[in-house]
Amino acid sequence: MTITRIIKRCLFTVVIFAVAATTVFAQCELKPDEAKWLEGTMNAWNAVRKNELKLPASDLPWSVLFDEKCVHNINPDTRQFSNREGTRQVARTMAGEPLRIESSSHSGKIFLPDGQSIPSQLISFAANYDGDKRSFFVAALPSIWKNVEHLRQEKNVETLVRSIYIHELTHTYHRNFFARLNAIEKSMPDVDNFDDDIIQNIFSKNEKFNKAYTEEIALANDAVAETKPEKKRAIAKRLLDRMKQRRAMYYTGKDLKFAEIEDIFLTMEGVANWAAYRAAIADGLSENEASRLIRRGGKHWSQEHGILLFMIINSLSPNWQKAAFAKRPASIVSLLERAVR
Ligand SMILES: [Zn+2]
Repeated sequence: MTITRIIKRCLFTVVIFAVAATTVFAQCELKPDEAKWLEGTMNAWNAVRKNELKLPASDLPWSVLFDEKCVHNINPDTRQFSNREGTRQVARTMAGEPLRIESSSHSGKIFLPDGQSIPSQLISFAANYDGDKRSFFVAALPSIWKNVEHLRQEKNVETLVRSIYIHELTHTYHRNFFARLNAIEKSMPDVDNFDDDIIQNIFSKNEKFNKAYTEEIALANDAVAETKPEKKRAIAKRLLDRMKQRRAMYYTGKDLKFAEIEDIFLTMEGVANWAAYRAAIADGLSENEASRLIRRGGKHWSQEHGILLFMIINSLSPNWQKAAFAKRPASIVSLLERAVR
């Protein structure tokens, strides 16, 4: 699989702005403002993981964070990363967690735990390494995000980046999904862009499919806005029926595989976006502000459909997390089925 394909599996990974450091700096370490922001983000992640996603505590996965000049490998796997030349090693505690941080300068290229490398651009994603046994997380630090043209006017940019980190850290609990996607991708060599926009890219050209999707989004928005549980449940039930009808109509014959592909991407992106939304609320935004910040216009189907479905599932069926993060995770359709019962 090419790195482009890994990168494009997630909303917050579009390459927007290249930052190439031309000067190599001898000494790198997290700057005080970066360290403070990162500690706040780790606290936010710990709270969302425990209180919202109901996941057990675990160490921060290998995180590769970079700014314009420096790259910091936090909790790197010592079997493949130790005593690199020019690396400054620091042991420090953040958010109550002992961390090992290895910092070095970069010259525009970031090396990843899976052996690949990426340019030091605005990016954030999670992926598997070590034969799907472990997860890593890579992201640009806030200084890079703040310099992106379309985010210059965003007054909540630090909350946005923090929420995006939490979106990706949620994906570090999706190793089984990533492994399954890798296998499915291998079975579809003719598909150029196997990413979370695949359903949109293939089926949005079909007018009837497009209309069915738009109607589902309208119903999902109605269900989210409805405050009375019984009415909310009734709208969600109609939405579930519409989803099942659409899927039964289009995902047949050679296209049967798209039922599972839609399930996986909606579930992964939905829950990660919902976690980001909860993090934005915890960071001080109102529900409406957080929803706008994370959904960003709702142009990407799997992101938009997914977060709306998890907003509905969470309000109708508060204990969905165990099934969603089980060894064989429940799909979003089965979670919605339970929620409308
Ligand atoms: Zn994602």
